Parts: sequence; C-alpha cells; structure tokens
Amino acid sequence: MYAPMMPASDAAAAPLAAPSPLPSLAGLDREKLALALAAIGVGEREVKMRVNQLWHWIYLRGATDFAEMTNVSKHLRATLAEHYSLARPEIVVEQVSQDGTRKWLLRLPAETPGERPHEVEAVYIPERDRGTLCVSSQVGCTLNCSFCHTGTQRLVRNLTAAEIVAQVLVARDRLGDYPGRERAVGPGLPTEGERLVTNIVFMGMGEPLYAYESVAEAIEILSDGDGLGLGKRRITVSTSGVVPEIERLGREVGPMLAISLHAVRDELRDVLVPINKKYPLAELLEACRTYPAASNAKRITFEYVMLKGVNDSPADAKALVRLLKGVPAKINLIPFNPWPGTKYECSDWETIEKFSDIVFQAGYASPVRTPRGRDILAACGQLKSETEKLSARERLALRAMAAAAE
Ligand code: SF4
Repeated sequence: MYAPMMPASDAAAAPLAAPSPLPSLAGLDREKLALALAAIGVGEREVKMRVNQLWHWIYLRGATDFAEMTNVSKHLRATLAEHYSLARPEIVVEQVSQDGTRKWLLRLPAETPGERPHEVEAVYIPERDRGTLCVSSQVGCTLNCSFCHTGTQRLVRNLTAAEIVAQVLVARDRLGDYPGRERAVGPGLPTEGERLVTNIVFMGMGEPLYAYESVAEAIEILSDGDGLGLGKRRITVSTSGVVPEIERLGREVGPMLAISLHAVRDELRDVLVPINKKYPLAELLEACRTYPAASNAKRITFEYVMLKGVNDSPADAKALVRLLKGVPAKINLIPFNPWPGTKYECSDWETIEKFSDIVFQAGYASPVRTPRGRDILAACGQLKSETEKLSARERLALRAMAAAAE
C-alpha cells in the first residue's frame, strides 16, 4: 500500500529554505566559496577567514539565511544576501513510512536558462543507533540493470557535488539534525547518539563512478571535520562495477565500497548488470581484492538482490562464497522490491533463508537486509515514477498545500 503523498511541511518541524532565483552557496566547497566571496569584492586577505565562517554556518549549523550568521559583519551579510542564497533543492514530495523511513523527491534548479528542471530522490533509513541517507549521483542512469527501475529512466546528467551535498542538507533540515535545533520526532528514529544522519550511501539514482568528479568532491565536503563531519568510514560508494575507477576511488578518496553484484556467473551478470560485459567478474573481483581502502576492519559490501528462480539457488549461494574468497567482504541479501512492468519476482522467504544459511555457515553474519519503507516505495526510482503519474492538478494542489502550511 502506498503512503499518501505528503506536502513537505507536514512531516517535520524544521523550516524549509525558500526557493530563490539567486545562486546558492549551500553545497559548495571551500574553493568555490572563496571565488563567490571574491566576486562580491571580499579582499584576498579576508577571504580565508570568511570562508571558514560560511563553512561553519552552512555545514555545522545548517543556516538557511545569511541573517543567522551573527559573527559576520552586517554589511557583508547584506551583500551576500543581495547576490546569493542558501537555498536547497525544492522538495516536491516528502513521504514518511510507518517504520520511520523518509523519502524526498527533490527538484534541482535548471543549470542553464531554459533547461527543464530535473528531479532526484534521497531516502533516509533510520535505525536505533544510526541514520543512513541514501543519495543520488545522477539524474537517471545509463546502465540499464534489468532488475532496476531507475535503469528504465534515461540518463539526463550527472549531479554536481553541490547537488549531492544539498541532499544531505535537506535531510538534516527536515530532521532538525543540527546543534540547538528541534529534532524531528516519530516512530523508528534513532534514540541513541547525538546525530540523526550518521551514514551516507551512494545507492540512489545513478552510477556514482560515472559521476566520479562530483562524488569525490562531495565526499570531501561531507567528511570535513569542521563541517558536516561524516567520516569516510561512514560514507559508502556503491558501484555496479566500473573497474577502472574503483582503484582510483580508493587511492584518491578512500570511502567504503559496495558492489552491486547480484550474480556469480558472467552469463547471468551480463543480463542483470550489463556493464559486466565490459568488466567481467574476474576483473571486478580483482579490483576489490586490491581496493586500497579495504581491510578486515573496512570490508567491502556485496549487494545481492534475490530474484525468484534467477539467482537464488543453493548452488548460487555456494558459488558466491567461493567467488568472495580472499576479499574482506560483507554480503547483503536484498529481497527484490517489484515495480510496475518488471519481469522479476522476489524469491520466496524460504529460499532466501536457505541461501542466507549457506552464506552464514561460510562466516558472513546477518546477511538479509530487512525491507524498509515498503509502504512508501523505497526502491530507487519508484517515487519519481509515482509522481509522474499524478495529474497536473494534483501536483498543483500538493504544492499549494505545502505553501499554505509554511
Ligand atoms: S542498479 Fe544502479 S547502476 Fe544499475 S541501472 Fe539501477 S541505478 Fe543504474
């Protein structure tokens, strides 16, 4: 059953940053902030100090208005407000699942005049002691994995680093996840720890290693200890297997790695994850064995979607264990989330348990991922498609309700 589409302001207490025609500084790295300051006349000797102030207010305090920046001079605050904003992408729809999972459909401002605005999703998955935000790295995807709904949406473009970081800011805004802010309350939210967003996974729309530059830059911003402070051990990049970029990611950036594996034989993986034709299993596993940031303490996660009668036999489970020998690995078995038009079905629970037992006996703990947010269609690409089915009138009504509630 689908949860009702909710106007953004119904689900959490934090204020929304108003959409703005001015360019936003939210999501920029230090270099781009310095350029923005220089462009409004801030002198060379002052720039570094001002960048540090902006960094603190944007990323540590979650400022949505320059007026909040009390240690910045009144004159500079006024000049900043004249030329820039701190706007986030517009929230088109916010959904809250009964289990606390939250999902946002976000509209990105056009990059060039006349460009149609594009939409991406971010999903927040809370647990008792952590909250994981799944972010998108591209609008659509080129890779056409046959079990994936996003793969049916053509690639429009890579996100910028700022657009990736802005997804994290939106989630923290909506959850009140900044010092001194009123935290969101509701079932399923973490009850331990100070932060609500503690982990980031690049598992939303798109192949992150095809948006390498943006993803790498975004990770540097997210992990900066003076700002959002999400350490690289808490950031996971999930790839379908863009082998040449895996080593580079480990060497240059060093986040945790996840592989969308889904099959243990090349003939089957060629169908499920077609990039396998370019980078077959042997090459992919070699890249994992030598991933610079991996160790027993920093295992690589292998995701394996359970498809009835396709990849779920005991022989597949045993082959999976053999394939991962020598790789510091965790295995995540994912019950398939069906979407309209798919030819696949989810494996029976009994089959999943048998598969999981074989993997467990081989030394991999708790490998079945509990399905989360099923009532709000948590599988990637689904919310976007659902909103596309809404009539123009329904969309207008949603927006009007959201505006009225502000
Ligand atoms: S699974 Fe990932 S890489 Fe494959 S089509 Fe879907 S979004 Fe793209």
